[in-house]
Amino acid sequence: MSTIRLENLVKKFGDFTALKTMDLEIADGEFMALLGPSGCGKSTTMNMIAGMEEPTSGRILFGDRNMSGVPMGRRGVGFVFQNYAIFTHMTVRQNLTYGPRMHGRPKAEIDRRVGAIAELLQLTSLLDRRADRLSVNILQRVAIGRSAIMEPVIFLLDEPLSNVDAAFRAVMRTELKHLQRQFRQTMVYVTHDQLEAMTMADRIAVMDHGMLQQVGTPLDVYNNPANVFVARFIGAPGMNLLPGWPADSDGGLVIDLGPLGATAPLPKRLAAAMRGHSREVLFGFRPEQATLAGEGRGIAAQVTAVERIGARTIVHLGEGDSAIKVVLDNDQQAAFGASAIVTPNMDAVRIFDRTTGQAIG
Ligand code: ATP
Repeated sequence: MSTIRLENLVKKFGDFTALKTMDLEIADGEFMALLGPSGCGKSTTMNMIAGMEEPTSGRILFGDRNMSGVPMGRRGVGFVFQNYAIFTHMTVRQNLTYGPRMHGRPKAEIDRRVGAIAELLQLTSLLDRRADRLSVNILQRVAIGRSAIMEPVIFLLDEPLSNVDAAFRAVMRTELKHLQRQFRQTMVYVTHDQLEAMTMADRIAVMDHGMLQQVGTPLDVYNNPANVFVARFIGAPGMNLLPGWPADSDGGLVIDLGPLGATAPLPKRLAAAMRGHSREVLFGFRPEQATLAGEGRGIAAQVTAVERIGARTIVHLGEGDSAIKVVLDNDQQAAFGASAIVTPNMDAVRIFDRTTGQAIG
């Protein structure tokens, strides 16, 4: 069984607690991304799953097997790091076959595996090239192949694409997903790049400050962030969060966006969740889930910057606490300095408690 269960996992380095507590269950054959900013404890978690670090407390189970005290070599995991570990004086083929040869696998089986992995990772024409003649991009591919050829049931990858160039990274995202589907491994993938997590993972575990913030499918964490951290961290740009107060108006509940001079009537779902809440809130909407117009009802703000990024344009409006970003298709126009009205799609609005940062609805 290649399920992975982390139970009350804690890791301290001296006085410093790198992982405060972590409970996570990864299903057999699932692609789980550990996503969060630098220093949040992703690699620490991964190193404990791999067996490179022992937890301070808590348990790691593979299926029903407690991994406590089981050394890395006996865990049956494949591990690929940010910095590829390959033998530069060997050919690509020798690198790929090294593991299976050391394990005494029959030649016919090794040949079959090399053929399959090389094709999957587009290394077939490079098999007889020496590794020291190859680019960083190709070397990282070889490193992934070297681990994958052992057909581990659990495959751990720690920022494997952070040293390769952007175009190659996009290709590798597709290939890694393909690799995992083909071999049906349980894959744990550490990244600080939300695009990588969103495009590849079945589920994402979002981490910050040594704590799990939310676990969910990419769409779930995008649409229903559990708290303000996830709302800001997921999405490019992240969610707009405007301070406001719950208020009654004409019998319905509204959010009073004070300094912006706007009130937003809440749909039933949010009004029900907000009933009885009297503290300050954050009114959240995704930059992709709002329209921009010259006039009408909505949030009035001035355009402070216009960023054209290929097929989309990011329009920046307002400033400070009231700063808003709206993503437009390129056929829509916005001019620097213009006055505009932002109208969020109320069905996609999320409300957070400003004090605790937790989602209310
Ligand atoms: P990054 O992407 O920068 O590696 P991360 O989320 O993977 O970030 P970790 O490497 O897990 O973060 O580190 C979490 C925290 O624990 C950091 O503050 C780091 O400095 C600290 N840390 C990690 N390893 C050790 C160690 N061996 N001794 C002391 N502190 C450590």
